[in-house]
Amino acid sequence: MLCIAMDGPVGAGKSTIADEVARRLGILHLDTGAMYRAVGLAVLDAGVNPQDEAAVTALCRRGGAQVDVAYENGAQKTLVNGEDVSVRIRTQEAGSCASVISRYAGVRQMLVERQRGIARHTPVLMDGRDIGTVVLRDAPVKIYLTASAQERAMRRMKQLKEKGQAADYDEILREVNARDAQDMNRAVDPLRQAEDAVLVDSSDMTFEETVQRIIDVVEEKYAGAEHADHKG
Ligand code: C5P
Repeated sequence: MLCIAMDGPVGAGKSTIADEVARRLGILHLDTGAMYRAVGLAVLDAGVNPQDEAAVTALCRRGGAQVDVAYENGAQKTLVNGEDVSVRIRTQEAGSCASVISRYAGVRQMLVERQRGIARHTPVLMDGRDIGTVVLRDAPVKIYLTASAQERAMRRMKQLKEKGQAADYDEILREVNARDAQDMNRAVDPLRQAEDAVLVDSSDMTFEETVQRIIDVVEEKYAGAEHADHKG
């Protein structure tokens, strides 16, 4: 069963790349960031202070932040407590709250269990920060997708400009560096490249080149695994 773990820092294009790779391979793409965002939203909706770890953990323990995912025409729908929050999780507020509550061990344990449960029954490409190192430690294929902070900031600026929003490069670069520091230095499950992950640095690659490179890695790994199976 195909199982691909993909990690990388903010702005590396993980979501769009993962979507396309999964589509071409005919498997599901599980965006785990969406699940952290959904818990963040449940915390805000319940009027709980995101900085209060004990209160957030208690909310999760009593089932007040039940996250589910469903798929419609291959696209992920993210639900919390039965409500489809796929659109609401994309706000800045939900993102900031997700980044706070994703530091808590109680939140991570709950979501990691859900993520493993999904991968047990379904061929999946899972993307996040701790997939190759924690969630799917035994995944046959692990990708660490990154790009220089400057390139990631540049791409983000372009995106914002295309949406007609004001964008200052220096400020965006500062934000990218701050998110990197937060994700890489947190105590629980920090972002890092798994030892057996293949590094894909997309700084000088187009979208298509990056997608193709990852598909090549997947095909090589699975061809190798099949070969070993036949020999064994
Ligand atoms: O990827 P995205 O920006 O949507 O993730 C939202 C937040 O969830 C981020 O702040 C990130 O640190 C956190 N996250 C995490 N572990 C994952 C996926 C996301 O801690 N596997």
